[in-house]
Amino acid sequence: MREFDCPVVIAGAGPAGATVSMFLENEGIKHLLLEKDIFPRDKICGDAISSKALQIIARLKPDEVEAFGKERDKTLLTNGIQFTAPNGKGVDIAFPKPKGNLPIGFISRRMDFDNFLFNQLKGSKNAEIWQNAELKDAEYDTDGGVTLTINHNGSERKIATKLVIGSDGARSVVKRKLQGFEQDDDHYCGGIRAYYNNVGGLHEQNYLELHFMKELLPGYFWIFPLPGGAANVGMGMLSRDIKKKKVNLRKEMLSIFENHPVMKKRFANATLDGNIVGWGLPFGSKKRQLSGNNYILTGDAASLIDPFTGEGVGNAVVSGLVASRMAKKAIEAEDYSKEFLSEYDSIMYQKLWNELKLSHTMQKLTTYPWLFNFVVNRINASKALQDVFTNMFTDLELRAKMENPLFYVKLLFNR
Ligand SMILES: Cc1cc2nc3c(=O)[nH]c(=O)nc-3n(C[C@H](O)[C@H](O)[C@H](O)COP(=O)(O)OP(=O)(O)OC[C@H]3O[C@@H](n4cnc5c(N)ncnc54)[C@H](O)[C@@H]3O)c2cc1C
Repeated sequence: MREFDCPVVIAGAGPAGATVSMFLENEGIKHLLLEKDIFPRDKICGDAISSKALQIIARLKPDEVEAFGKERDKTLLTNGIQFTAPNGKGVDIAFPKPKGNLPIGFISRRMDFDNFLFNQLKGSKNAEIWQNAELKDAEYDTDGGVTLTINHNGSERKIATKLVIGSDGARSVVKRKLQGFEQDDDHYCGGIRAYYNNVGGLHEQNYLELHFMKELLPGYFWIFPLPGGAANVGMGMLSRDIKKKKVNLRKEMLSIFENHPVMKKRFANATLDGNIVGWGLPFGSKKRQLSGNNYILTGDAASLIDPFTGEGVGNAVVSGLVASRMAKKAIEAEDYSKEFLSEYDSIMYQKLWNELKLSHTMQKLTTYPWLFNFVVNRINASKALQDVFTNMFTDLELRAKMENPLFYVKLLFNR
């Protein structure tokens, strides 16, 4: 028997689900938020949080975002990113400064950052929040809605709703049950993450380090500094290549610490804090169906991770905002049909597709080590080019130019 009816149910209270809830609350729309864990909880991630996510959250919580960015035990401000090419040469690219007082970006353990987001929901008048509530099943019912089966504190509960928002991450139950799940190994990345203390040679301005090592291509290795001198260290590689080359990411990473001429020294005194853990990254390098009858997918459930940088929190937050607006429209029109909700897909891809497509091109470029080496060498030799690449993070036209072979010819001849 169904317990009670709720117009909107959000599954998952990560960055995507918390954003949906925050914006629904702001619109005065009643909803139920389900979260299988209990906050604070960990999420396997590189922990790099871009200004894209912060700017959206700050629309509702400007003072809170600014204050969190100043909590030095929880956030470490970062000013840019260092790419190291297969030939071992690195190039520093500064992040462009955002408007106002918001941080450029920071690194914050997801244990802390997601808890900060979740705390913003406290005192909500329109949200009922259930933690330790795992969505187990979603089925269409006979009266034009969906019945959700939830394990809440060990007891089974059934909820009827007209609209379910799938913010339940890479292994989304909403997606699997209402759309059918297919993992596409060409657009899905395997990742591992570990916390280390005493890593040597961290960047003095807290830059994120992305290393494209010859032996790992087309995968990459990262070192992101954390508050308190610790570091988030990890590796990612397309699932297709992991399977084809039978790669064990954990073994590869440990082998880097033992054998790589530079990393061997940097990790000589490093100590592992906790375990090396793994999780998947659904890349947004292919267009997908993002909604259907009675459901909308957000964040990782919608496969929106940037295929070049591995950044997913920003797009999860963007999708949370757009999904909340779509939910409002659907409630007003009393229309939860696939046709009506497909406007969500159009808006999302209008906002993100150019960026995702270009990042996919750049991801493919990394499979040509000579080209990568060449670009990094040229950028290092020219301050003007460093500025150009700084703007790459915000300037889509510039990123589009990088798709064109002429761009590289110009790099070669223009000093
Ligand atoms: C190794 C690795 C490194 C990464 N590095 C970065 C990085 O540095 N920067 C960056 O921006 N992105 C990074 N990402 C991507 C980023 O982690 C995700 O894109 C982001 O977490 C997506 O947010 P989300 O809210 O969609 O999903 P999630 O953060 O996965 O949140 C989903 C929530 O739903 C809950 N849930 C799951 N199933 C259920 C269920 N059945 N019922 C109820 N609740 C459920 C989960 O407990 C969780 O709280 C990385 C990912 C990986 C795997």
